[in-house]
Amino acid sequence: MKSHTQVVVIGGGVVGCSVLYHLTKLGWKDVTLIERDELTSGSSWHAAGGFHTLNGDPNVAQLQSYTVDLYKELEEISGQSCSLHLTGGVMLADTPERMDFLRLAQAKGRYLGMDLELISVAEAKTMFPILDEKHFIGALWDPVEGHLDPSGTTHAYAKAARVNGATVYRHTKVEELVQTPDGTWDVITTKGTIRAEHVVNAGGLWARECGRMVGIELPVLAMEHMYLLTDEMPEVTAHNEATGKELIGVLDFGGEIYTRQEGKGILLGTYEQNCRPWSPRETPWDFGHELLPPDLDRIAPELEVGFEHFPALQNAGIKQIINGPFTFAPDGNPLVGPVRGLRNYWVACGVMAGFSQGGGVGLTLANWMVNGDPGYDIWGMDVARYGTWATLSYTNAKVQENYRRRFRIRFPNEELPAARPHQTTPLYDRMLAAGAVMGDSWGLETPLWFAPKGVEPKDIVSFRRSNDFHPIGAECRAVRESVGITEIANFAKYEITGPGAESFLSKLMTNTMPKTGRIVLTPMLNDNGKLIGDFTIARAGKEKFYMFGSSQAEITHMRWFEKHLPADGSAAIRALNLGWVGLSIAGPNARKVLAKVTGEDVSGEAFRFMDFREMDVASAPCKVNRISYTGDLGYEIWMAPEYERQVYQALMTAGAEYNIRNFGMRALLSLRLEKNFGTWFREFRPIYGPYEADLGRFVKLSKESFIGRDAAQREFEEGPRRRRVSFVVDASDADVMGDEPIWHGDKVIGWVTSGGYAHFVERSLAQGYVPAALAEETGEGAFEIEILGERRKATLIGEPLFGPKAERMRM
Ligand SMILES: Cc1cc2nc3c(=O)[nH]c(=O)nc-3n(C[C@H](O)[C@H](O)[C@H](O)COP(=O)(O)OP(=O)(O)OC[C@H]3O[C@@H](n4cnc5c(N)ncnc54)[C@H](O)[C@@H]3O)c2cc1C
Repeated sequence: MKSHTQVVVIGGGVVGCSVLYHLTKLGWKDVTLIERDELTSGSSWHAAGGFHTLNGDPNVAQLQSYTVDLYKELEEISGQSCSLHLTGGVMLADTPERMDFLRLAQAKGRYLGMDLELISVAEAKTMFPILDEKHFIGALWDPVEGHLDPSGTTHAYAKAARVNGATVYRHTKVEELVQTPDGTWDVITTKGTIRAEHVVNAGGLWARECGRMVGIELPVLAMEHMYLLTDEMPEVTAHNEATGKELIGVLDFGGEIYTRQEGKGILLGTYEQNCRPWSPRETPWDFGHELLPPDLDRIAPELEVGFEHFPALQNAGIKQIINGPFTFAPDGNPLVGPVRGLRNYWVACGVMAGFSQGGGVGLTLANWMVNGDPGYDIWGMDVARYGTWATLSYTNAKVQENYRRRFRIRFPNEELPAARPHQTTPLYDRMLAAGAVMGDSWGLETPLWFAPKGVEPKDIVSFRRSNDFHPIGAECRAVRESVGITEIANFAKYEITGPGAESFLSKLMTNTMPKTGRIVLTPMLNDNGKLIGDFTIARAGKEKFYMFGSSQAEITHMRWFEKHLPADGSAAIRALNLGWVGLSIAGPNARKVLAKVTGEDVSGEAFRFMDFREMDVASAPCKVNRISYTGDLGYEIWMAPEYERQVYQALMTAGAEYNIRNFGMRALLSLRLEKNFGTWFREFRPIYGPYEADLGRFVKLSKESFIGRDAAQREFEEGPRRRRVSFVVDASDADVMGDEPIWHGDKVIGWVTSGGYAHFVERSLAQGYVPAALAEETGEGAFEIEILGERRKATLIGEPLFGPKAERMRM
């Protein structure tokens, strides 16, 4: 065994082999893969080998598409066949809601360049003759779907990597990982120790164990999964002979079944409701090329439906039942990237669809390691989306929920119940008592809307306007007409201190840092000049700042901040997590309410828009920002959790004469639409530049230097290629949800990032990106936005519909 290498990839499943291949493709040749058994010895060898490009997250869908395109290249380089069967496939809808879902999927596919087509059940039957038409009402055809040989494909990755110079050690187990004082890793194996600059955990079923070697607990759980193979079926061979074609792949949402041709018979798998985690705490090291005992009883209800939907199966003999484990993260998407706080320790695990996603995972991780950036928008796969709150039991509950819901619709207003409540603020019971319908904001319970007396505080899930529509309207009007209060504990908050704090922030952020007592808004860019953050920064003193941003991105951002801290220790940053909670009051009477609970002068002259103050509020020590995401006069009041109940009570009491009203996150998001404010993860993501995103006014190119400055300067000089714009949409009972295509004439020219009904201005609004050349086209109905399969007139608006001159914010 070698004594040194640049990278050790732990794990020779499809994911580890893909990472290895992509590292060599990007030019790193001294890379080594270590596999404790034969390649494919985890989940990879017994996979059903199906692949497809559709995914709820368009960015992940793009990478799935990359994966499918890669197989030809692998075969060419390695000389190893992947046994690719590009049959195409259909998703079958059995209810009107499922048809809406297919329409949405098709619409999303339009701007991703996917060739998806809604077809009739009769047409689907010509390609999959054993289905019984009476159970279905429509179908979506995807030509880029099929199946392959999982083992051959994994070997093709490994061989292609070897051709490019990589080394593979089989029958060698990594037992320990020890970081040396210079930051490199001693990888201690059963065959000796190898020193590596980087370690990649692609341990699949053993990813948790490989995480524990460095003291981390990855939120990964394996589930048992079964599929069965039938004997030869005459219906299958007859179709093959008559058409010269294989049967296509079929996803039957109603039956929660996937099925396709295998040999001269059928392969059928199911995501059963009676699901079972496998080895929930530890994966046995002696588990190898073996299967779990089949348990047909567990999948009997789904099989019964399958036999009804595909009656020919009733006469088919079952040749084999495969039951094997594979891993999931709580949301079902992979965990990829560098782990915060560990130098050069990377993960590529929790990949539940290795043959659809493995290529994209390998590519982005290799990009990240070699170029310092994944090269794609992979927030949906970033390991940093989970914090220590994603414990083993949380993961266990969420993974099972996700498994059971694999073929279920997730409605845009649907909150999933497993592992809840998990984290709560001191106001949780008060909010529930006030009728709050709570949402899960990455583990934290957050009020979404408040049911008035007599209305059940529960969402009726739908793609269309639902039972929250009128209550949210009332909350929005309460803010605009008098004053509202909302909890904002679900923001990320940071404290930055030290003599180097200002220059540290200035190097990371595009805006100049504020004077003491003032606030700035600022984007943060990566080296390529793309948006990786969007913050509010308040200056509390010469060497002290507070910063506020997206809580979902807190660990991602901390990873970036810590990487860029000055080596001389002159600046420190601390995430305050739930050590701080917050309340926001907003509306024309907000100042009067605040004035009643503080001895400070909060007049418009003394406490101006974008001012920051440390002050007592209801006798609690608070930090107060004079800003509001509602676009109204407003204050964000931050405090330690032990004060929150009494500050809330004092504000409610003081606000009673102004009919102060609770409002939730949904009203907040509706109000910000009226101001054309964008939001992180929707309008602002790492695929957009600051000028494209209409954040150019916060980029100070005159500043000496900041990360991404040169790229931003180029974007400024050349002009953005596309631009974020807002539309009034001629909607009826359904508003945009995000990811809808934007049409101009007969062409799809852009996509919606978010939107909804703006209750105060009484318009349906959407935000999205269009080519810069079209961004001034404000003629009525110059565009159309596709909502649930219908193209709706959309008029681009240059100015916000509420307070275009920001009068209210500044009053
Ligand atoms: C029944 C079934 C059907 C499936 N069907 C499909 C499908 O149709 N399509 C699809 O895309 N996916 C399917 N999957 C999922 C697919 O199998 C996984 O997504 C994929 O195998 C994950 O690959 P991996 O490389 O992450 O993990 P694994 O395949 O588990 O590989 C991890 C490897 O790491 C090695 N390893 C771990 N720890 C160490 C260590 N300390 N030292 C050395 N080596 C170590 C293991 O031996 C193993 O070989 C299916 C899975 C099952 C169980």
